[in-house]
Amino acid sequence: MMIETHCHLDYLKAESLEVIRQKIKDAGIMKVITIGVDPLNLDLVVDISDQHEEIYFTQGIHPHDSKDATEVEFQKIRDRSVKPKMVAVGEIGLDYHYNNSVPEVQRKVFETQLQLACELDLPVVIHTREAEDDTKAILKNFSRSLKKKGVIHSFTSSPDLAEFVLSEGFYIGFNGIITFKKAENVQDVVKITPIERILFETDSPFLTPVPHRGKENAPYYLPFVAAKIAELKALDLEQLKDQVLKNSLQCFPKLA
Ligand SMILES: [Zn+2]
Repeated sequence: MMIETHCHLDYLKAESLEVIRQKIKDAGIMKVITIGVDPLNLDLVVDISDQHEEIYFTQGIHPHDSKDATEVEFQKIRDRSVKPKMVAVGEIGLDYHYNNSVPEVQRKVFETQLQLACELDLPVVIHTREAEDDTKAILKNFSRSLKKKGVIHSFTSSPDLAEFVLSEGFYIGFNGIITFKKAENVQDVVKITPIERILFETDSPFLTPVPHRGKENAPYYLPFVAAKIAELKALDLEQLKDQVLKNSLQCFPKLA
């Protein structure tokens, strides 16, 4: 059995949620975390989770949308945190590749939400791209107060950042990127990450794994991610799945 720790069910368009849910079940996936990031979809994500037993959720403002973050969204994060199925604050972080919001605003909104996670005693789901120094500096500041840690999802940064976040107690989430031909850098990070600190995710509808490139990604493609990690680390697939299931429950205690 597996847990899909990161997807965006509110963005999936190719199939109905009922079809997707059946395929998820058939793929041996017992629980799914749908990540709320779009300020316009925070309510929708909660509704999807409310209506479906196996679907859990998060609430957060993505670095791209930092410029639109207001107290209204932060209050939503606070209010929903009491729900049993809100497992984390996220995804939050820094993205200097696209710079859809200016870095200064991104940093401020990242810090505000890390502070919220500390107050709510929840783990965080972090997105970081081409922002290694600032990610490190900010996480260092929250090192003591962020008790539950969380995951650096869709990891594409350097082995150096991987070592830093591992030493800080975070998990690392890998997705279909590791199946791409030109992903040696991420594959190298898989190799140095202890299996006790790995999480599986798809980040669907983005980043469809090989051999389904060109189609909309979906949570039921998670087995391709698991198989690739087993191959890269020369591990027995079932043994890896058992360990990663434990990791997912430890990273997100409200899943248990
Ligand atoms: Zn995402």
